[in-house]
Amino acid sequence: MTLVDVINLFDTDERCRELLVRLRWPNGVECPRCKMPAVELATAKQLFYCKGCDYQFSVTSGTIFNDSHLPLQKWFLATLLLCESRKGHSANQMKRELGVSYKTAWYLCHRIRYAMTEVHKMLDGTIEVDETYIGGKQRGKGVAYGKQQKEVVIGIIKRNGELKFIHVKEGTSAAIREVMEQHVSEDVDVIVTDESVLYASGLPKAQVSKRKAVNHKAAEYVRYENGFMVTTNTVESAFSLFKRGIVGAWHRVSPKHLAAYLNEMTFRFNRRKSHTLFLDTLRHMVTAPVLTFERLTA
Ligand SMILES: [Zn+2]
Repeated sequence: MTLVDVINLFDTDERCRELLVRLRWPNGVECPRCKMPAVELATAKQLFYCKGCDYQFSVTSGTIFNDSHLPLQKWFLATLLLCESRKGHSANQMKRELGVSYKTAWYLCHRIRYAMTEVHKMLDGTIEVDETYIGGKQRGKGVAYGKQQKEVVIGIIKRNGELKFIHVKEGTSAAIREVMEQHVSEDVDVIVTDESVLYASGLPKAQVSKRKAVNHKAAEYVRYENGFMVTTNTVESAFSLFKRGIVGAWHRVSPKHLAAYLNEMTFRFNRRKSHTLFLDTLRHMVTAPVLTFERLTA
């Protein structure tokens, strides 16, 4: 899908809605309230009616499109732009590209970003885990002091598989343990980390024996053990990509919205070889719950 495709194929609200209907209800339109099959109102084609609970609705009712007065084509264009930006897309860029206000562009980006959330899955196989520190100003010389003002993100990647970024309150063993219990299966084969004591003391009991550590302090970045590559380079590259997004597109990411930016980046990263990223994103947008402006800015 290219911008030209979106402009040609989805030139009217009606055409956009037809696609959204297929994505939201692949097995036929059903009532969002009572889940009964619904009928299309003959008088107004874009509306559906449920005889079960007397509810009238459209394909965007109860979705993140709710209450938006923007033409759906602009939504589609914004979605494609976010899908295509490997290193992120700023609200300012989008404002210029779509000819909308900054506030509208910002809200649009956030709503789409909000829909870019993965279904939770435990990772297994060979994984790499690392932590990074984002944002904040590093004042003073003490590293510990500098780190305290930054946001901590734990990255976990399954080699040849899924990437997850998790924003945690602080970089402690306890935080590592919680994240690993929630995201990594006990059946994991190998966990590669650096030499940090965070992992030696933080990994859950069932995972400790699976750990292999690369010694960054000794300037070791890759080590081979019987043909196995002990390295955290894969997860570190993913961190760099995210940080380039902050520098190049987002500029400043507030702690409140950091998780949403992390989701956007991993959602896109995990589908980087997929031809259905755009459709996947639109599907999430008609199936994710409503995000109100009040909640977004609360
Ligand atoms: Zn109903």
